[in-house]
Amino acid sequence: MTHRMLLRSGHVVTMDPAIGDLPRGDVLIEDGKITAVEQRIDADVDAEVLDMTGRIVIPGFVDTHRHTWETPIRGCAPDATLDDYFVDVLDTFAPVYTPEDVYAGNLAGTLECLNAGITTLVDWSHINNTPEHPDAALQALTETGIRAQYAYGSANTSLSDYWFDSGIVMPGDDVRRIRSTYFASDRGLLTMALATRGPGFCTNDVVTAEWGLARELGIPLTVHVAMGRLAGRFGMVKQLHGLGLLGPDTTYVHCCYLSEEEWRMVADSGGTVSVSPQVETQMGHGWPPVMQAIEHGLRPSLSIDVVTTVPGDMFTQIRAAFGAERARVNADCWQANLPVPDTMLTARQMLEIATLNGAHVAGLEDRTGSLTPGKRADVVALDATALNMAPVHDAAAAVTLSADVSNVDTVIVDGVIHKRDGRLLADVGRARRLVEESRDRLVAATEARKRQT
Ligand SMILES: [Zn+2]
Repeated sequence: MTHRMLLRSGHVVTMDPAIGDLPRGDVLIEDGKITAVEQRIDADVDAEVLDMTGRIVIPGFVDTHRHTWETPIRGCAPDATLDDYFVDVLDTFAPVYTPEDVYAGNLAGTLECLNAGITTLVDWSHINNTPEHPDAALQALTETGIRAQYAYGSANTSLSDYWFDSGIVMPGDDVRRIRSTYFASDRGLLTMALATRGPGFCTNDVVTAEWGLARELGIPLTVHVAMGRLAGRFGMVKQLHGLGLLGPDTTYVHCCYLSEEEWRMVADSGGTVSVSPQVETQMGHGWPPVMQAIEHGLRPSLSIDVVTTVPGDMFTQIRAAFGAERARVNADCWQANLPVPDTMLTARQMLEIATLNGAHVAGLEDRTGSLTPGKRADVVALDATALNMAPVHDAAAAVTLSADVSNVDTVIVDGVIHKRDGRLLADVGRARRLVEESRDRLVAATEARKRQT
């Protein structure tokens, strides 16, 4: 029997240009798929009806790069630059991570996403210190029911071994094992990518081997480029071009210091872009290049990156990008004594970047990112009657400029309700206990390690 769910009388912002906004509309979901978005849908008597009166209904947010494993060390590096982060996080906590810590981090971190209306997550998991680590990460992703692209990354047991001209290739056999064990189909809730370190951090042989591995397995790649004092000067995209490795299967994260030539290389090769504006402005990665990406014909997405140093929600990223980008244009126009151009980022554009563009970047635009009949039902409803949202003049702007996590009322992934009436339908107490125990274990282990050296 078909399971029908009807979202009734919401202010529906579909992010599908062919459908637009329905100030009072219904969304019909059948067996996890959106089958109709109309002003009024007369559902069968057997449909589960969710009253969306006073709610703004949007596609779920897509976070295109988060090191979810870091959830147990949330806030451990509040004042860190990127250089500090390598020492304080990657060289301090990462080496002592057990599979249990990865499980706890991915469990609590993924529930944090769902609670905040992030329905798709690219889990950039460079914590595979043993073969048990990726299994632990995937177990948590599977249990929570989020849509995720699991990006298998390297171990992180030593900064010098893994980041300073590293000669260690990710273990191909284990990557193949994970691919065949968990990803028999590329149509499931979980998909796979390879989280690579890239040129500058690794020797050319390692880079070539890892890109080859991803292509052998038919999975996309994701790589941090052009950020911070060090990697900002590596010319990583140019190096990849020199190795003949650029392609449409690669996501470039940060991109703050890409040269004009490299921007064109990314665009011409069909690559995609993930910008982490709060991290980039705060930690010295460089300016969040949202407009630069757009000017090169790309469709940038947003990502959270690290909760060691920034908040884990999409509203923060939207505002950081919007404020930073407009500040730059405003400053240029002040200098030139000119009015601002009409290409200034808009509040509505930010919602597109945080949803539809994210789905594009994660390679999932055929199934999520907009409320389009035929796509899977990844839907978020925000309580627009809350004091920080009412009254609403412009629904898209209310989401991007007024809302916060407290307004996330209903969260549906693949047709399954994960949050309703502002309450997460998961064992939050257990997740918090595990992540607190993990924090205690990690802090004790780093102190024991310090005493040994
Ligand atoms: Zn990152």
